[in-house]
Amino acid sequence: MNSEGPNSRIYYTKPSITGLEIRYANDAVSNGWGERCYEYIERFEQLFAQHLGVRHAIATSSATGALHMGMAGLGIGPGDEVIIADINWIASAAPIVHLGAKPVLVDVSRDTWCLDPSAVEAAITPRTKAILAVHLYGNLCDMDALSAIAEKHGLHLIEDAAEAIGSVWHGRRAGSMGAFGAFSFHGTKTITTGEGGIFVTNDDALYARVLTLSNHGRARGENRQFWPERIGFKYKMSNVQAAIGCAQMERIDELVAGKRRVFESYRAALSGLPLRMNPEPVGTVNGYWMPTFVVDGGIPFNREELLAAFMADNIDGRVFFWPLSSLPAFESRPQHTESLSLSARALNLPSYHDLTDAEIARVARHVVDHLGRRPR
Ligand SMILES: *Cc1c(COP(=O)(O)O)cnc(C)c1O
Repeated sequence: MNSEGPNSRIYYTKPSITGLEIRYANDAVSNGWGERCYEYIERFEQLFAQHLGVRHAIATSSATGALHMGMAGLGIGPGDEVIIADINWIASAAPIVHLGAKPVLVDVSRDTWCLDPSAVEAAITPRTKAILAVHLYGNLCDMDALSAIAEKHGLHLIEDAAEAIGSVWHGRRAGSMGAFGAFSFHGTKTITTGEGGIFVTNDDALYARVLTLSNHGRARGENRQFWPERIGFKYKMSNVQAAIGCAQMERIDELVAGKRRVFESYRAALSGLPLRMNPEPVGTVNGYWMPTFVVDGGIPFNREELLAAFMADNIDGRVFFWPLSSLPAFESRPQHTESLSLSARALNLPSYHDLTDAEIARVARHVVDHLGRRPR
């Protein structure tokens, strides 16, 4: 693994794997076959549902798959519109397109970097079926405002909480508040199963529909073998992946605490600079999946130059997501000024759970050098 030294590589993320993950994965690969082939999957689903405080969970091969099946379960299809923030990873939008529906991009709020509720309301048409609330980098969408809009207009409110493990909105965990929630356990996320995801809901009927969809259209309780009642999906998590996930769930408080410690260290190291970091409004907790800074308007900032300084010192930096409207698959939206300005003025910092204070100081020094020597 990496030995810490003055020039050791600082990855932007990597999983925290201990003897526990290795022991469970070994057990699954040695013994988890035949009648025991679902044991870790069932346990993982239970642990995750319990953690979140929801009734149902279905482990999947990715968050993309969880979103695809969940939206199919809500009946979203050709002709429908789903409102989503312009700044997002494409995985949130792709399933909408796969279902034949249309992602309607709206600008983000300057404070949350997530959906601007007034922009959402302005984008509603008779075809609107759902609002997809993505909690970006751990930041929470304004769930009270979005719930009120969804209720008023009879829309489904969906949560993509792939980046929001550990985030809490006034006592309720991200992913537990919408019609359904989706999470990712890709190797870069707060907890990992290598690749993987999960669908969660409190809606018994939606759970039953998605369970059938998730099993190639075979309903639970169907006695005939190989009898799909409809065309479904195959987005399952394997028992070996779930074994790793069970160990991560036993350590979830420690893993979220690691993310929060890293964020607080960056915040202290960057205090006094003309920038903002991930917000944590009163009454909420931010899981701080990815510590991100946004340089204040009017302050010169050369993102490429800072990334080059990182690279020369063996440090991974990541650009903020591009507005989807700037990608070839979407129509451009020059009026989305918040999304466009955020993308150009922000950077994600390395944030794996075990990052040391010395490593954080090494990263922060480049940001201080870059911004500190600029005229204020
Ligand atoms: C990572 C991520 C996804 C995709 O997750 P996969 O498990 O790779 O499909 C979706 N939405 C958001 C917000 C993400 O960060």
